Amino acid sequence: MPRLAGNGKIIALDSSSTATDYSVLLGGCPQYSPFNQTTGNTPSQKNRTVTLKRTPVLSSTVTYVGRKASGNTTNTTPLMGFIGFAINGVAIYNDADAQLLDAYIQEGHTMDGCRGHADPSGTYHYHSEPGQGCVYTDTAGRHSPLFGVMLDSIPIYGALGDGGVAPTNLDECGGHTDTAHPFYHYHVAANLQPPYVIKCFKGCIFSANGNNASIIVGAAGSRWRALLAALPAAAALVLFRRGVA
Ligand SMILES: [Zn+2]
Ligand SMILES: [Zn+2]
Repeated sequence: MPRLAGNGKIIALDSSSTATDYSVLLGGCPQYSPFNQTTGNTPSQKNRTVTLKRTPVLSSTVTYVGRKASGNTTNTTPLMGFIGFAINGVAIYNDADAQLLDAYIQEGHTMDGCRGHADPSGTYHYHSEPGQGCVYTDTAGRHSPLFGVMLDSIPIYGALGDGGVAPTNLDECGGHTDTAHPFYHYHVAANLQPPYVIKCFKGCIFSANGNNASIIVGAAGSRWRALLAALPAAAALVLFRRGVA
């Protein structure tokens, strides 16, 4: 089974294979200490296997995942919890908190310097782009690097498109194609505006990926604090390999 090898390598995973699917195993741990968040919840390792399509399948209808649906009406069925993952293995959530209010506005004060925090289950997650140097670092004049992959198998990049400028042709979900990446991809919202990540899935969700519970294959493992203390820098990558060994 292919494994998440580290920042920026997900999309290259076994790219020569003809298989239609690939799987990544996620530990949910960032490469920095997650213990500066102040929710009162304790971040803990959360192993997950996520199976994705090597070639995403675009759907004729979109699936709204956040607080807003078509026409910016209220989405009464947002997809809470895990809707994608950053390339450092951290979960990506939508723009809603448990009360379906704006998570960044309501809970931003509990987030750490990379805009991550833990939910009551201990899952450390982002609701938005994490900030420069946390998962990726933009380069002036260039398309943003890869941020992660959403559960419809479509990759999501930082806020900047071709030429290092925030794109103006994003569709309702937050995606487009451009010169740098002539395949459909998402961008995080520029300037920390809702929905922060994506508004809807443009691609099809296959098998277990659409069910938050069924993609969790490992019970909460060892607490990160002890593991991180025993590991050198780039702990997340080491942790990840240990976690799936
Ligand atoms: Zn949250
Ligand atoms: Zn782009």
